Parts: sequence; C-alpha cells; structure tokens
Amino acid sequence: MSMVQASQIESNLARLTRRIAEACRRVGRSPDSVRLVAVTKTASVDAVRLLYDLGLRDFGESRTREIWDRQPQLPADVRWHMIGHWQTNKVRKTLPLLALAHSIDRWAIAEAVSAECVRLGRTFPVLIEAKLTADEHKHGFHPELLLDAYPRLLQLPGLDICGLMAMASLEDDSEEARPVFRSLRLLRDTLQSANPEGPTLRYLSMGMSNDFEVAIEEGATHVRVGSLLFEGIQESVQ
Ligand SMILES: *Cc1c(COP(=O)(O)O)cnc(C)c1O
Repeated sequence: MSMVQASQIESNLARLTRRIAEACRRVGRSPDSVRLVAVTKTASVDAVRLLYDLGLRDFGESRTREIWDRQPQLPADVRWHMIGHWQTNKVRKTLPLLALAHSIDRWAIAEAVSAECVRLGRTFPVLIEAKLTADEHKHGFHPELLLDAYPRLLQLPGLDICGLMAMASLEDDSEEARPVFRSLRLLRDTLQSANPEGPTLRYLSMGMSNDFEVAIEEGATHVRVGSLLFEGIQESVQ
C-alpha cells in the first residue's frame, strides 16, 4: 500500500469519525455509544492493519473465509464481527474467532451456534438479524415470525442475545432508510416488553456507508461501514 493510499484511508477515517460524532450530537447521544465496525471485505490486509494502527479494533466480514484468513495476520485484540449470511458447517471454525455474531438470520444458524456453544462450554454474544425489506437477496427473520420464534431462541443454550441487526435497501437518499431503522428499534422494544424476563436487547447493528448517520439518529449502537473507509483507494483485490 502506498503512502498516498495510507493517507487517503487516514483522512477517510477522520472524516467518518467526525460525521459519526456529529450525528450523535444531533440527537444528544455520546459518540461513545456508537461502535464503528470497519467492514473490510476486499481491502488488503495492509489496509486493515493500517486501520488497526489508527486505533480501530472492531472489524466486520461478510464471509467466514476472510475472518479465517485475516485473524492470524492481525493482533489478537482485534474484535471480529461476523455480519454476513453463513453456513452452519462454518460455525465450528468461525465462532471461536468472533467477538460478536451479527447475522443470526435463521433458525438453523441459531441452533448450530447454540450447539457449538454447548460443545465449547461457553456463551457467545449474538444479534438476531431481522429482514425488514422486501429485497429477496437479504436474509433474516421476518419480524412477525421473529415475535413468534424469539421465546424459543431465548431457550437455546449458549446464546447471549444482545440485540438486533438489519440492513436497509441501498437507496441514494438515506432518508429512505429511516423507517427501516426505526422499525428495527420498535421491533426491539416489542420483543423486550413481550419478554421481560429475557436479556436486555441493548445493541442495534444498523447503518452502512450510505445511511449510517440516519441509523445513529434512530439508535444504532453498531454501524458497519466499509466503502467510505476505502474511498479513493485503487486497491481492491488482494
Ligand atoms: C458490505 C456490508 C456492509 C458495509 O457496506 P458499505 O456500504 O461498504 O459501508 C455492512 N453490512 C453488511 C452486512 C455488509 O455486507
């Protein structure tokens, strides 16, 4: 990675951090209440390491393979976030590497993660992914089905359910994402009040490069931002 690319990433991060802080200020939230998860996908390991050196510790991947490849190449205090659709047969190798699994998007993966937790004799923090748009390429529990399935998800041993995750559709106008993010927050509130004995659903993972500010205004605790960090970098494939 060239010096020019490194300074581009550095200024992208500075601008993003400032925009996160401004969005927090608009709604009276502390910037500390929002965790930036850098989504690195096709970026090089050098670029990931640079973000680490600039102070980021939370990295998100939508493919298990990227986590397998990168985890050994980065310092041990990186917190890896699984944010994409994953196969149940990848759980055993991936789960021990994760700080948070955002994409518990169907019953089978919840069961597979639970079974692995039991096998390891520990709990793992997870988020339940809800499908709030009609986009057939998106995954997640349909909200009405989730209301029904949630009490059973709570019964699965080993899952430390911390909150919900969702994606909005990719629209040019980020305001179009607002009702989606708001409905995730309301779904969280509904699940919480219908299950008062359940865990506190304190995390909302929502917002990407084109809509993270709206997501923060609607209560996101984790924003998953990729392309904005690597904007202007001519290096995409390693
Ligand atoms: C790629 C991806 C992101 C980041 O998207 P950008 O638009 O590049 O910021 C966030 N969440 C998920 C689930 C993704 O797959």
